[in-house]
Amino acid sequence: MNFDEIITLDKADPLAKKRLEFDLPANTIYLDGNSLGALPKSVKSRVAEVVSQQWGNDLIKSWNSHNWIDLPIKVGEKIAPLIGAAQGQVICCDSISVNLFKLLCSALKLNSERTVVLSTKDNFPTDLYMVQGLSDLLGPDLCQLQMVEEQDIQKNLTESVAVLLLTQVNFRTGKLLDMAKLTQLAHEKGILVIWDLAHSAGALPVELDTCEADFAVGCGYKYLNGGPGSPAFLYVAKRHQEAVKQPLCGWMGHAKPFAFDANYQPSPNINQFQCGTPSVISMSVLDAALDVWQDVDMLHIRNKSEALADVFINLVKVHHCLHELILCSPDDVKLRGSQLAFSHDAAFAICQALIEKSVIADFRAPNILRFGFTPLYTSFEDIWLAVTTLVSIVESEQYKEQRFNVALKVT
Ligand SMILES: *Cc1c(COP(=O)(O)O)cnc(C)c1O
Repeated sequence: MNFDEIITLDKADPLAKKRLEFDLPANTIYLDGNSLGALPKSVKSRVAEVVSQQWGNDLIKSWNSHNWIDLPIKVGEKIAPLIGAAQGQVICCDSISVNLFKLLCSALKLNSERTVVLSTKDNFPTDLYMVQGLSDLLGPDLCQLQMVEEQDIQKNLTESVAVLLLTQVNFRTGKLLDMAKLTQLAHEKGILVIWDLAHSAGALPVELDTCEADFAVGCGYKYLNGGPGSPAFLYVAKRHQEAVKQPLCGWMGHAKPFAFDANYQPSPNINQFQCGTPSVISMSVLDAALDVWQDVDMLHIRNKSEALADVFINLVKVHHCLHELILCSPDDVKLRGSQLAFSHDAAFAICQALIEKSVIADFRAPNILRFGFTPLYTSFEDIWLAVTTLVSIVESEQYKEQRFNVALKVT
């Protein structure tokens, strides 16, 4: 593959013009949108408006006049079509971790004859920590965490399992689990399923309703570009909404928050999953950021994501000096999300050297170099330049320099 072929791919890309809707720094190749999405241009004016006009001038009236109070529902409904959810099932609130707490408690209560939460050893740690914390709180008679390898999920779907907690795309390897199949197998054993969509929402087509998923959580600041610390979202299938009861009974989840009643009465719909006052500024940012998806076909996203990763892998393969980079993601493109992971003993230092040369990737302990592909704003030329930079760093052994080997607090 040569540079002309790369340029041809960019010219034929139906999503190419989407990049113009983002504010990307000049001369930077950003392959970390799976950790923190880039800044959509529309966000800047929205923040200025929310802060100066809505807060500064209209003050408390804005809860009604600018509909601050409905933001969690409004933003949830904008996310819903990206994850295959019909109306009334998605709400934007809190972080994934907090939302997992609500959903784990809800699911355990719906399946209260059982105690086990089954998950994978390589799940994102916060997902596992939240179960461990809940197990501490409730005691082992009510909640126990069982962790298995990804390939052993199926054979551990037994009648003692209450809840299956899975991340659809593995944060380290990018491995994509089969949502339809695993949900169906779990249901056959009476198990409820919570899907974590942190690396799926905005990265690939997701079909929660079609798969008959029970619950899901996902992130605002990764592929949805909601900015650092953006609120997360959660999904509760309509069929569970009447019976379900979540324990963080804040006033925003009350059926009538402004009745100021002393007794808690949950809202009969997805609103119950709110807890306290929504973070209006962050949620407005996410609301504006989501507008870039209005005319986007998720199949175009998926096709481009697969093509970007294929080009990356092929370019790595043709450079002999990169043979120590071992692909840890599945070989089969259909079994991957929108990122690639390579192991290398010097992964941390290589990553630091790439960043110094304005190719932003990230490092995941112990030895993984991770490249994320965000089809809205990653071009094929970016991939070419990233691999060219990688080659120069590895060939020259520049990454061995002292300054690339100093530990950082955030990686
Ligand atoms: C990024 C990520 C999270 C983040 O959780 P927060 O509580 O929102 O910080 C959770 N789960 C997975 C799988 C992730 O990749």
